[in-house]
Amino acid sequence: MFQELSSDEVEQAINRLTEFCSVHSWEVVYSNKKENKYYNNVITLYKNRRAEILYYIFLHEIGHAWMLECDFTYRDRYPELVRTPLRYATVTYKIAKVQEEIEAWEVGKRLAKSLGLRINESKFEKIRAECLSSYMNWAGKPRKRKEHGTESNITTSVNSIIQEA
Ligand SMILES: [Zn+2]
Repeated sequence: MFQELSSDEVEQAINRLTEFCSVHSWEVVYSNKKENKYYNNVITLYKNRRAEILYYIFLHEIGHAWMLECDFTYRDRYPELVRTPLRYATVTYKIAKVQEEIEAWEVGKRLAKSLGLRINESKFEKIRAECLSSYMNWAGKPRKRKEHGTESNITTSVNSIIQEA
């Protein structure tokens, strides 16, 4: 039977991820703002979360960092996300974004495994589903006139709806 993660185990896992980030020169910043993101070698995490939830979101954000900085197939696989200028309001952009989100969760999960860190699959799945469904709602909304969606306002809106699991 699955043994729940103790708070010590979660804390050790977060420390291990922090160490992993420092090896890759990714700074980890804890913020009071309700947003989690990876941008320009900085991972920002909303600090007022239960530690286990923060751990899973941390894995996800490292997934983004890994894809952008260490996966040399990224540009070929996500042309809509690297073109200039970005076409924020198009369906192709939104779908690519959703696909990137799904992959970042998978990469995070694989990372945990490769570092020998345990996760609670059902809690991980729950937080993953909450994050993804808000991205999917966003992607499914018809294009509004004069929509100027940006990276940061989607990040914010996604994370503001997540409930503590
Ligand atoms: Zn994400």
